[in-house]
Amino acid sequence: MSYATREDVERKLKSGWEPEYFNAPGPVDEKELIQTLYKEKLNPNIKIVVAGGGGFIGGSMVRYLKGKGFKNIVAADIKPIYEWYQTTEGVANLCLDLRDYKKSMDLVQGAVEVYNFAADMGGMGFIETHRVDCLINSSKINDNMVEASWKAGATRYFFSSSACAYNTNLQQKHDVPGLKESDAYPADAERGYGWEKLIAEQKCQEMFIEKGMETHIARFHNVYGPYGTWDGGREKAPAALARKVIAVMEGDEDSILIWGDGKQRRSFMYIDDCTEGIFRLMHNLNTTATPLNIGSEEMISVNELVDIIEDILGVQVDRKYDTSKPKGVVGRNSDNTMIREYLDWEPGTSFAEGMKPTCEWIKEQYRNRKAGKRTVS
Ligand code: NAD
Repeated sequence: MSYATREDVERKLKSGWEPEYFNAPGPVDEKELIQTLYKEKLNPNIKIVVAGGGGFIGGSMVRYLKGKGFKNIVAADIKPIYEWYQTTEGVANLCLDLRDYKKSMDLVQGAVEVYNFAADMGGMGFIETHRVDCLINSSKINDNMVEASWKAGATRYFFSSSACAYNTNLQQKHDVPGLKESDAYPADAERGYGWEKLIAEQKCQEMFIEKGMETHIARFHNVYGPYGTWDGGREKAPAALARKVIAVMEGDEDSILIWGDGKQRRSFMYIDDCTEGIFRLMHNLNTTATPLNIGSEEMISVNELVDIIEDILGVQVDRKYDTSKPKGVVGRNSDNTMIREYLDWEPGTSFAEGMKPTCEWIKEQYRNRKAGKRTVS
């Protein structure tokens, strides 16, 4: 075999390797949440680092972890703090460029858990035109963070991979079967962004197999929700199309422009399912160093996506198409067999449900920007 496999991981798991639990007593809080953490052998006082905490998933994960009762969370992002999509009270927020090894090393000192969401990325419009940024910047960040975490003695490390790591040849029809984890190899990932993710997965796998640091790897399938990028060139289809429909509603545009023919199909996962899945994955030993899909199995076309947005916003808009714009693969869906088996759980929010708060939030952002107020994109 020329790459790390589940068999390598199982051999390591059975080799007498022991996970480190957090049994440090700490002050016991009577709150139920904290008690639950203790029951799960998770000490609420451990230092948790969230890299990319100023972004969409990172910011949401910080809020989720704080809500779980963790008290010592440090979030870091290259963006100045006033540009973060959200900040959570009681969390230390740092503005750091994690391409700098020394800064990464300082950040993870004393950390027990490290979540890495920091990456130079965006929707198709960005990743098809910024391959070098995706390849070089994101790999520098993950190289630094995974190595620094290991050197600093962190117990577990989370890496955000992507469905873009899958073999693109399996995604050339509208009605493709869901992508199973094993479909990443033989590899033919999305140029730039997808290859970087695949190689970074390997680094995280070997970090466990060879060095013994517990790593956890999720392949996210299109995440959407409030507090995500909704304009500026890095936004993804759900947010971009919601914004375009809102612009027509507000009388600023006559029609919406859809990239491609609108028939390309995808599945989309609501942010609350994403954060829940990350936490479950991170605290499940059987998933150590094993890339797992975290995504929805509800596949819809871009045209259906616009129908749902129109229903939620109560409008119908004129649609124009531009087939010269980046549209990515023809069809992509998640196969959740493995996550159901390992986590006994899978994302459950339907696209129509998750888009309601998302559209509301984007509408508010849109109106705030028009009124000259500060917004996140
Ligand atoms: P995001 O762009 O909102 O967040 C990424 C954050 O990383 C940004 O805030 C950015 O400022 C920060 N960052 C970039 N370069 C940095 C640097 N040098 N030092 C420190 N911080 C830096 O993206 P997101 O949607 O929250 O994605 C988080 C992770 O999940 C990424 O690794 C992404 O590739 C992966 N992912 C996301 C999706 C999705 O649909 N959102 C799908 C698949 C994978």
